[in-house]
Amino acid sequence: MPRYGVVFTTTASALVKVEADSPEEAREKAPAELDTGLCHHCARRIELGDFEYDEDDADAVIEL
Ligand SMILES: [Zn+2]
Repeated sequence: MPRYGVVFTTTASALVKVEADSPEEAREKAPAELDTGLCHHCARRIELGDFEYDEDDADAVIEL
């Protein structure tokens, strides 16, 4: 009997925490701190695309 692969997709998000004096500074510093790598086990089964954020979205930066 033939075997088949079935692809499932989802959305994902990542929260990067940085110390900054303003939301603008946080936006500037966050990309360098983004670490979305998967562990060896997960990387065998899950493929992630590039993470992006909307610069015009005021809700993309939250004070913690
Ligand atoms: Zn993992």
